[in-house]
Amino acid sequence: MTTLEAPDVKPQTRLAEVLTLQRTAFLRDGPPDLDERREDLKRLIAAIGEKADAIASAISADFGSRSSHETIVADVWPVVAGARNTVKQLRGWMKPRSVGVGIELLPGRGRILYQPLGVVGIISPWNYPFQLAVAPLVAALAAGNRVMLKPSELTPRTSEFLSEFLAKLFPEEKVATVLGGADVGAAFSSLPFDHLLYTGSTEIGRRVMRAAAENLTPVTLELGGKSPCIIAADANLAAACRSVAFGKLLNAGQTCIAPDYALVPKQMLADFVGGLEAAIRALYPTLRDNPDYTSIINARHYARIARLVDEARARGVRIVEINPGGEQLAPDARKFAPTLVIEPPADLAVMREEIFGPVLPILSYNTLDDAIAFVNARPRPLALYYFGVGTTDRDRVLARTTSGGAAVNETLLHVAAENLPFGGVGASGMGAYHGEAGFRTFSHAKSVFLQNRINATGLLHPPYGRAADFMRKFLLGR
Ligand code: NAD
Repeated sequence: MTTLEAPDVKPQTRLAEVLTLQRTAFLRDGPPDLDERREDLKRLIAAIGEKADAIASAISADFGSRSSHETIVADVWPVVAGARNTVKQLRGWMKPRSVGVGIELLPGRGRILYQPLGVVGIISPWNYPFQLAVAPLVAALAAGNRVMLKPSELTPRTSEFLSEFLAKLFPEEKVATVLGGADVGAAFSSLPFDHLLYTGSTEIGRRVMRAAAENLTPVTLELGGKSPCIIAADANLAAACRSVAFGKLLNAGQTCIAPDYALVPKQMLADFVGGLEAAIRALYPTLRDNPDYTSIINARHYARIARLVDEARARGVRIVEINPGGEQLAPDARKFAPTLVIEPPADLAVMREEIFGPVLPILSYNTLDDAIAFVNARPRPLALYYFGVGTTDRDRVLARTTSGGAAVNETLLHVAAENLPFGGVGASGMGAYHGEAGFRTFSHAKSVFLQNRINATGLLHPPYGRAADFMRKFLLGR
């Protein structure tokens, strides 16, 4: 573990020391073989299984209240499932690939070797503080790298836990955890890593990429944004409402791929609002002491979400607050009642900023093309959800909008399908991981040309004469 909060330790110096330690070990030992990588992952899987309850307790303490079931389903299970899948498929992913070199270069051969990049930096956020730190770690280790991890300061217990947990499993020269706040994050992102994966807000993502550019360090940016949910006229409304309510309220909306707002055909608006209300009541009959309903991470974020709703209310927008038990919700417990914001004007903050809380703006549209145009007039989202039965409209929406990922007649679950690459596009990020995509992200695909003992490339060499003229005819056909 590496703690940089002691006043006498200069973050940059200590961080650079850890990077040197890992890079030296990487160059000394070379790429780990398949067995070593698998053993590392299996040890990690077993340790996570043993510590699942401790993980849930740490995260719940950080949030004030976080459903332990949600921690298991959304923080722990995806990592274990991803690591298991990786153990199973790693041999195939690591295999060099043979490729054709074109008739002109025969009998030479082409091969692509997948090499570890070296030392990978990972910066992770608070909202799924275990998954978003450890899932990239799994991919980076599978690809044979060393890893420096900088988890979020907003979940201090989980970050401490991670630091101790990983230190027991791996030597510092393989995996090192660095604790600290934004200043340490800034110093961390300016290190000359071989690759840097950042998960967090788009705003900080810009700074991370700027810092990485100084070293020409390639980045994967897993950012946020406003993920739309389009309800088509032929959607099964009750099923759509259940799925949107679940996707919006898991972790109290503090999910990067939560549906941010919904677009509904004008004639279905009232039914959708009623259906959502019913679905939310069924999921959360009470809020205040309900362990299933998670708190907002801190007072600042609670105030930010309240401000979004207050601004809409002050502008005369219809607000539907769903508090089935009619309970008093003390702000210091930070349980924010699910809230629907009906037809807010586009200039309100609730329609400009990523909400990241249990608040759902609902807008109506006249034609599906209007809904598509609405989405396309905004930055490219991380996810898009489409609810509808027919395939023509579905395919039109999928083809005419660009989002990191999409799910049809469901929310969130594309992130859990290990073989689907997960990542954003445009303002929602760049690059991807999960499954094979993660292995490729953290590998260098090295192109190798293998020359045959007998070959004709001498014909390409000077002095150029009749043989070269013949080669010209062969290469260009004239
Ligand atoms: P956060 O505040 O915890 O920040 C993320 C990390 O960045 C932390 O480790 C923090 O210390 C570090 N950091 C802060 N300032 C930095 C700087 N100047 N340089 C380098 N690092 C710095 O988390 P957040 O940003 O509030 O996270 C929420 C955002 O993350 C939302 O926008 C959400 O959509 C997005 N998100 C995206 C994904 C995804 O997979 N695409 C997943 C989860 C969250």
